[in-house]
Amino acid sequence: MRQHVQFVVIGAGAAGSAAAYALARRRQDVLLLEQFHVGHERGSSFGPSRIFRLAYEEPDYAGLAQAALASWRALERESGQQLYWQTGGLDLGPAGTPSLEAVYASLSTLEVSPQRISRRELARRYPQWQVPSDWEAVYSPEAGIVSPQRTLRTLTDLARHHGAQVKEGVLALEIEPGQRPTVVTSAGVVTCDHLIVAAGAWLPSLVPELQAVLSVTLAASSFYRPDNLSAFGPERFPVFITHDEFQAYGFPAFDVPGVKLGVDVVRPVTTGETRTFEVPARVIEASDTFMRRFLPGASAVMERQTCLITRVPGGDFILAPHPDCPQVTLASPCSGHGFKFTPLLGELLAAQALGERHPWHLPRFALPSGAGWQTAREQPLTGGL
Ligand SMILES: Cc1cc2nc3c(=O)[nH]c(=O)nc-3n(C[C@H](O)[C@H](O)[C@H](O)COP(=O)(O)OP(=O)(O)OC[C@H]3O[C@@H](n4cnc5c(N)ncnc54)[C@H](O)[C@@H]3O)c2cc1C
Repeated sequence: MRQHVQFVVIGAGAAGSAAAYALARRRQDVLLLEQFHVGHERGSSFGPSRIFRLAYEEPDYAGLAQAALASWRALERESGQQLYWQTGGLDLGPAGTPSLEAVYASLSTLEVSPQRISRRELARRYPQWQVPSDWEAVYSPEAGIVSPQRTLRTLTDLARHHGAQVKEGVLALEIEPGQRPTVVTSAGVVTCDHLIVAAGAWLPSLVPELQAVLSVTLAASSFYRPDNLSAFGPERFPVFITHDEFQAYGFPAFDVPGVKLGVDVVRPVTTGETRTFEVPARVIEASDTFMRRFLPGASAVMERQTCLITRVPGGDFILAPHPDCPQVTLASPCSGHGFKFTPLLGELLAAQALGERHPWHLPRFALPSGAGWQTAREQPLTGGL
C-alpha cells in the first residue's frame, strides 16, 4: 500500500463507496479501505432492497430525497445499470393516524400527486392486502426500490474505473487526526490530506468520542414465499410502510422469490464487533403474525437476515468535520433511513473533503450535542425509513 494519498475513505458501505466514487470522478487520488469485502453482510448496506421515498415530514429531508432521485438517475446514466425501480408506495394504517396524515401532507407539498385510497379501493387495486375496516392507505407514485448489492458493486467498480484504489480485507486499526491524518491499518500505515471515516457500526470504536451519541441496534428482515409469485412482483405490489403497532415495512418479490418484511418492535443494542446473527423471538413472532393477518397469500417463511442500524438521537445523520481536525470528516448517514440518499451523500462528503459548500449539506448533519465535543444541532427528525 502507498504511504501517502490525497484522500483515504474508511468503509466501503453505502456512504464510503459513494464518497470514494464522487472523489475519484472528480479526478482525486483516493484509497478506499474495507475490512471485509464489498457487499458483505455484517454491516448495514447489503441485500436486495431498500425503500426509496420522498415522504418525509421535514421539508428539508423531502427536498434532499428529490435531489437524491436526480443523483440516482445520474449514476444510472453513467454506469448503464438500473439502480432504482419505481414500484409506487403504500402507507397504510387506521384512518386519521397522525403519521399517515403527515405523509399525505408532505407529499401534497411536492409535485407528486399522492392518492388517498379507501379500504374498498385498496381491496380492488391490491387484493393481496387484507386490512381492518377502519384502515386506509396513501399511495405515493414515486416510491420504489434501490438495491444495496447492485449499488455498492456499481459505485466501487466506477470508483476503480476513475482511478481509485479499493482495498478489501484491510482493517483500519487506529486513526490519528492531524495536519496529515494518519491511518494505521492491518496492511501498513498510510497518511493523507483528508480522511473520511464512514465506518457504520464500527464508527464508535474508531472515534470513541461518538460512543455517547451513536447507538447500534440489530434489525431483522424476513422473507416469505407467496402462493402466487407474480401477484407479489414489483409491477403489482408496491413497497409499503404501516402506521400501526408493527411499524412494518416491506417489499415486493425483487431479486429473490419472496416478499421481504421488517418490523420495528424491538431494538436490541449491540456493537459491530459483538453482534450476533440471531433474530429476536419478538421479531419472529411479530413478523409472522403480520403476514398471516395482512398478507395471507405470502406467509410461508423462506429466510431471515439480520442487519445493523447505527442511530443518532432523533434519527438524523452525521456528516461533519472532526471538531479538532477539519482534515477528518465523520460520516454516519444511517439511522435506518439513509440508503435512499446514497449517491447524493457521496457528493456531499466529497464536497466537504474538498472544502466546498454543497447546497444540500443540511445544518442538521452537524455533530450532536452530547458527543465528546459540544456542538449544537437542529431539531430531531420524527419520521422513519
Ligand atoms: C434492516 C435495515 C433496513 C433499512 N431500510 C432502509 C430503507 O428501506 N431505506 C433507506 O433509505 N435506508 C434503509 N436502511 C438504512 C441504510 O441501509 C443505511 O443508511 C446505510 O446502509 C448505511 O451505510 P453506511 O455506509 O453508513 O454503513 P455500512 O454499510 O455498515 O458501511 C460501513 C463499512 O465500513 C466498514 N468498516 C468499519 N470499520 C472499518 C475499519 N476499521 N476498517 C475498514 N473498514 C471498516 C464496514 O465493514 C462496512 O462495510 C436500512 C438499514 C437496515 C439495517
